[in-house]
Amino acid sequence: MSIDHRTKQSGQGQALPLQTLTTSSKRAWFRNVVAEAAGCTRCPAMCERTAVLSARNGSISARIMFIGEAPGRKGADQTRVPFSGDQSGKNFERFLASIGLGREDIFITSAALCNPRSDSGANRKPTKMELANCSGFLRHTIEIVNPAVVVTLGSVALDALKSIRHHDLSLRKSAAKIQRWDGRVLVPIYHPSPQVLASHRREPEQLQDYKVVARAIEQASLESNAAALPPDVRKGFAFPIVST
Ligand code: SF4
Repeated sequence: MSIDHRTKQSGQGQALPLQTLTTSSKRAWFRNVVAEAAGCTRCPAMCERTAVLSARNGSISARIMFIGEAPGRKGADQTRVPFSGDQSGKNFERFLASIGLGREDIFITSAALCNPRSDSGANRKPTKMELANCSGFLRHTIEIVNPAVVVTLGSVALDALKSIRHHDLSLRKSAAKIQRWDGRVLVPIYHPSPQVLASHRREPEQLQDYKVVARAIEQASLESNAAALPPDVRKGFAFPIVST
């Protein structure tokens, strides 16, 4: 990845800490990442696909970021919008709406930006190598959006975070439990695909999981408000991070 992801260079050649980036700097940085992803040919099996990353993924000022596995053949690979155009997308939007959120409130991306397919043309999981190849794009996107809350959809997305900042979480043990990761609130939940709904996490359970996401957003908002208080007032607040 050719873009320096720790700092951005100002017009005078001085490094700017991430916190001081203006919205226009963030936009320019995001445009660079989008352009680099659009021309990326690192994964030989993905060369006929194009990365699903653009302004259609959501606002780069969103406080909540969802991360999925990879674009689906009949979904995002066609629509160019993650989790749209197929049954996983319909399920995702229904779950999102259950806690009063819409696409305009979130940024959504994937651990692998291109659609992985088997020889028969069916969707397949991205390989470890493909995920490693794409991890720089995920890292940059998280740094640009700088979300207070990250929600991973499925184990592939949760594991992909390890290459950005290590964690020991597994979906089986940590599903729908509020965690701390990389200075953010993290909620690992299950993928909304019909297969997962039919086998691992049914609709009523997934709806409960989204209530935890809503709690995490509220918690992050309280933390952000408390951070603005004077230190002696702030001491009176205690926020449990790991909860069920
Ligand atoms: S999946 Fe990511 S790393 Fe692989 S070709 Fe697509 S954009 Fe490049």
